[in-house]
Amino acid sequence: MPQEPRDRLAWIEDELHSLESSGLRRQLKTRGGPQTSRLVVDGRELINFGSNDYLALAADPRLATAAAEAARQEGVGSGASPLITGRGQTHRQLEQRLAEFEGTEAALVFSSGFAANVGTVAALVGPGDVVFTDRKNHASLWDGCRMSRADVRVYPHGDWRRLDEFLREAGDHRRRLIATDGLFSMDGDLAPLAELADVAERHAAMLLVDEAHATGVFGRRGRGVAEHLGVEDRIDVRIGTLSKALGSAGGFVAGSRSLIDWLVNRARPYIYSTAPPAPTAAAALAALDIVHDEPHRRRELLARAARLREELVKQGWNIGSSASQIIPLIVGQADRATKLSAALLGHGLFVPAIRPPTVPKDEACLRISLTAGHTDEMIERLREALQQTA
Ligand code: PMP
Repeated sequence: MPQEPRDRLAWIEDELHSLESSGLRRQLKTRGGPQTSRLVVDGRELINFGSNDYLALAADPRLATAAAEAARQEGVGSGASPLITGRGQTHRQLEQRLAEFEGTEAALVFSSGFAANVGTVAALVGPGDVVFTDRKNHASLWDGCRMSRADVRVYPHGDWRRLDEFLREAGDHRRRLIATDGLFSMDGDLAPLAELADVAERHAAMLLVDEAHATGVFGRRGRGVAEHLGVEDRIDVRIGTLSKALGSAGGFVAGSRSLIDWLVNRARPYIYSTAPPAPTAAAALAALDIVHDEPHRRRELLARAARLREELVKQGWNIGSSASQIIPLIVGQADRATKLSAALLGHGLFVPAIRPPTVPKDEACLRISLTAGHTDEMIERLREALQQTA
């Protein structure tokens, strides 16, 4: 008897049950209203410590106005990939603006940060090459490594000495690439970019830094960790996203003219995907103006984050090596993280539990992300609730 389609997928139910019983099954929830520091879930208002909207721009009316205006002028859909007819005036303007913002010759806008990472890594290395990747890099860098079919060497988190050894021992490869997050998305710590740049220079390797969580937040002009550490000019490939601190959607790569021309010719997620909508590009342009005009947003955010980190350590929490607005409370087992998150919900606070496979086994945590939209009073409520649950 031929199997029914439902039977052929029966294994999925089994797998889901097994996720459920190990406390790892994930469920979608639906946010009511805009993404702000107050969140409505299931009709209940919570203080939101679970967003990457670090500068509180996602719901800023200036971005909405820019997007609405672009929608009226250019429409919503781009209708084709950028190399055919999908790239409009707003995309071009945004790319010029991003290059100015980053201080590079050129920039290229992708439909997401994920696409930018995957496409760029796979365009820079291929069979016969080698890519060195930090163990805690974002999933999109990992997927880029896999897609590239280059040899992949994983170095221990932030361990540039070990990376130096790896490079010394690496055999004959055509090209070498080192790929790292600038600010790690779950641990909230910074990559040792000066040391990584030394290693890259010593071994003639290209250096790629994903600043997804740092663009708009770190550095005097908001360029990211590379600017904060004074090594921007030593990074060959700078990647950022428009979807976190910049409050819109899309990703970008900034670097030399030839790098960008190469990506236009070789980055598959760029070539074979519809150009992002003009309204999101217009919103990102408005956000870049705000990053320029309102530096107090990032300064105050980082100052608040530093104070909270200090207080959490005093309370006895393990916050790992966090040095940013992303503060993990590392609790170990997945079910502990889930229980702690549920206890905070009881106090009207949303702090997501982060479990494997997003973090390594035994490193489950609560991930607090602070934004410029949090008031001192909101942070105080979190501090008090954590004191009680500690
Ligand atoms: N890089 C890092 C470090 C990230 O955390 C993320 C998103 N979580 C991305 C890239 C992907 O960016 P986007 O959401 O714009 O696709």
